[in-house]
Amino acid sequence: MGEYRCDAWVGGDAQDSTMRTIGDRRSHSLYRFLFTVRQDASVSGFQQTISLVTLYAVVVGSLIIVPVNMIQDIRDGMVLLVATEIAYLVLMLCGVLLFWKTRRLWHFQVIFGAALFAMAISLIAMGGGLRGVGLLYVVAGYPVFFLLLGTRAGVALPLLVFFGMAIRLPLGGFDPRSFFQDESFARSYLLFLGGAALIGFVSVMIQNHMLKGLARSAYYDPVTGLYNRARAEESLRDAIRGVNVFPRSFSLLALKIHQFSRINSFHGSEEADEVLKEIGRRITAFCKNPALVSRFSGTVFLVILPQHEPDQIHQTAVELVRELQRPVLTGGRPATLQVNAITTRYPEDGRTTPRLLANLMGSIARLRPIGGQVVTFDEHTYRNEQTRYLMAAELRGAVAREELSLVYQPKISLVDARPCGAEVLVRWHSPTLGSVSPAVFIPLAEEIGVINEITRWVIATAALQLAESQQSAGNDGHRSRWNGLVHAINLSAVDLEDPQFAAFVANLPHETGIPPSAFEFEITEGVLVGDNPIIQASLDSIRATGYSLAVDDFGTGYSSLSYLSRIAIGNLKIDQSFVQQLTDESAQSPIIEAIIAMARSLRIAVTAEGVETAAQRSYLQRLGCEYAQGWLYAKPLPLNEYRAWITADRPHMDSTDSSPNSMN
Ligand code: C2E
Ligand code: MG
Ligand code: MG
Repeated sequence: MGEYRCDAWVGGDAQDSTMRTIGDRRSHSLYRFLFTVRQDASVSGFQQTISLVTLYAVVVGSLIIVPVNMIQDIRDGMVLLVATEIAYLVLMLCGVLLFWKTRRLWHFQVIFGAALFAMAISLIAMGGGLRGVGLLYVVAGYPVFFLLLGTRAGVALPLLVFFGMAIRLPLGGFDPRSFFQDESFARSYLLFLGGAALIGFVSVMIQNHMLKGLARSAYYDPVTGLYNRARAEESLRDAIRGVNVFPRSFSLLALKIHQFSRINSFHGSEEADEVLKEIGRRITAFCKNPALVSRFSGTVFLVILPQHEPDQIHQTAVELVRELQRPVLTGGRPATLQVNAITTRYPEDGRTTPRLLANLMGSIARLRPIGGQVVTFDEHTYRNEQTRYLMAAELRGAVAREELSLVYQPKISLVDARPCGAEVLVRWHSPTLGSVSPAVFIPLAEEIGVINEITRWVIATAALQLAESQQSAGNDGHRSRWNGLVHAINLSAVDLEDPQFAAFVANLPHETGIPPSAFEFEITEGVLVGDNPIIQASLDSIRATGYSLAVDDFGTGYSSLSYLSRIAIGNLKIDQSFVQQLTDESAQSPIIEAIIAMARSLRIAVTAEGVETAAQRSYLQRLGCEYAQGWLYAKPLPLNEYRAWITADRPHMDSTDSSPNSMN
């Protein structure tokens, strides 16, 4: 996993059962203290905040208005009403205190509802009075109460008022200041109230129905019943703002199911849905409240965890992966899942929702498609990935924008110091990224599928440049220097897997006039070891056209040498890491000796790469190594410098160091 931490499996209990008190820990901030709410399945964070604002407003309003009324009622000797008002205030305050203790909004709502019912009954029993006006507010404001109390209480309260008054009215005996002492006014008022209540009731029911439906489709995943991505993101934003019960530092855990399409294809989509439901159930059962579980996308489940200690998070992830990888029985058949977990922490790894989610998604993109990996987000790797991503976008158009160029690193014969040709190396200068090493962009080009385009460009350009060089050398009377030179071009496995590639190189001599003997293709051992029939066919065809093949970076790849008998290799290039171990003090290497001895018995020529010192050259010469390439002779050169190098006179090349003349 590169620099990602991908640790071993460990056991132990990862759940935190003390989370009920978490809300209290953040009491240093008044906002957090007042508005921290335990996540409620059916109400959004925003709705919860609105509900709380309204409830607090009603509490504060009651604390001002009710005592004023109470003074009046005490003066009037209305004992029942005074008792109700006291009960109302006590209940309200208990509701607030209970909410602060449990952080559950519905506790507050139930007690608040009880207080209102008590108040309404008392007002009805007393026959109104000036406080009858309060009833008007109860009824007119009931859509607000609907919001606060939920549908049942929101509907029951105005009905209670309506029927209560209808029963109470014929009994008479109203307080002199009551609305209801004027009977005709009271009747028309009740009629109006009844009509309004009915219309309001119907509208509230419809609204409620619609809202519930909307909330479900907006916030829930229809398959698993878990929160969906929108709700997960909202909860995450709330957690960052500190208005739900998550601690001020928490963590995110993404669970990625690999190859789920197989379940779909071999078990059918209905069973696949059952598997997803089971996964949702297992995660929910494992991560007890207040962890928040969501199905973030098709095969990614996201959990917001209260844990923050890296070891604790890791342990939770390991156990959860193990739990999810237990076979799921579906349609009587077991389905086994490949699950990986990725974790990231707030606030260390990111302070915003997009950033935290990007951490997880970036890590998921890097996962190998096998299960059981538990990966901890790492900033450094993320940055590298980001650079690679940007680079990939730039690389796609690099050939078309003519940002590539070629350099030639001369190769000489160690026998007679004669130039034998060069290795053709590609260079990329991006206007945005600057010069990028081929060791970086070639593997990336292979990964994103642009290597074929690059290789064809390299081959075609090298052929054209060589044809041009030969022609101009002919004009200058140096034609003979170019005779017999071999130019080596690097190929990647992806090139050889392209069935059209062999035809492309077979066509080249016709198009450029350069004979196949002027080119050699370098292939690394890894490509040759696997017995991929397409690669084998490409190599056979390339050889049949007349090109020669070289094994690049020999000795670094694989222990198997069986490919040497299968593929006609003309040249082994000893990897520069072996050559560079030859120091001035101790210029000898059993590995190089073994390679040269083996190549000689197989009649394969040997080239030493990365020759930098005279001591290395002498040692290689003594062993009978045929060719050398390295900074001792020349660095990779742009075409014009390479042409000059070929035509320059250097009679004592084998004994005199020529200084590198370019730094490509
Ligand atoms: P390679 O094929 O093994 O190329 C040799 C690398 O060693 C070149 O690095 C070269 O500049 C470097 N080198 C040569 N002599 C010395 C020396 O004396 N000392 C040291 N320290 N280094 C020396 P470069 O050009 O950065 O290329 C890196 C790799 O990128 C190449 O390794 C090859 O695998 C790949 N590559 C370069 N051009 C192409 C290309 O056109 N196609 C493909 N498929 N791969 C390419
Ligand atoms: Mg090479
Ligand atoms: Mg090499």
